[in-house]
Amino acid sequence: MSMSHLLVEADGAVLLDTGFPGDQGRIRRGMAKLGLGPRDLKAIVLTHGHIDHAGNAAWAKAWSGAPVYAHPLEQAHIDGTFPYAGFSRVTGVLEAAGRAVTGYRPVPIDVPIADGQELPFWGGLKVVFLPGHTIGHCGFYSVRHDLLFTGDLWVRFMMRTQASPRVFTDTPELVPASLRKARAIGARWVVPGHYDLPDATQLRRQFEELCAERERPRPTV
Ligand SMILES: [Zn+2]
Ligand SMILES: [Zn+2]
Repeated sequence: MSMSHLLVEADGAVLLDTGFPGDQGRIRRGMAKLGLGPRDLKAIVLTHGHIDHAGNAAWAKAWSGAPVYAHPLEQAHIDGTFPYAGFSRVTGVLEAAGRAVTGYRPVPIDVPIADGQELPFWGGLKVVFLPGHTIGHCGFYSVRHDLLFTGDLWVRFMMRTQASPRVFTDTPELVPASLRKARAIGARWVVPGHYDLPDATQLRRQFEELCAERERPRPTV
């Protein structure tokens, strides 16, 4: 489940992103396999409000009663009211179509989060504000596991590793600084969005390569 992670701890679990609308069964079954029910869900944490991440947040909240954590700037994305401009208008069209087809339901953010804040989950989950892909996009750094969830700051799909593609990015000019910020954490593990490769060591190396490539001076023509 690469668009949804279940962070399991001794006294329950936290859902990090919720996948596309319709993935409820997968979330419920995944939890049931671990002996977890709706009452065990302590929080629903969103990296950002795109439909493939917030798709089941309304359902998960109704099902479990758990509060929704996200950056306040993401409410417009969750509601489908974000004013897309430039190349990212493509995303706006896709999002709107996806919402119509799937019967997506928006959800209010219960707990607004901010950069540097440490959420009391998984031994301490630090909010890392990484805007660009969306204006309120956040990653999460687990102190205990020395692991950084980057959301869609960089993604891996179709065997390719790349920074958030331009058409899926609200503010591309913010991406380089966010990549630098994520890289500077120096986490042992770096988890991309949408990954199809379960090899953590290889993913870590690919993130480093991507950042290094981005930092290399471009020849001027
Ligand atoms: Zn996204
Ligand atoms: Zn995504």
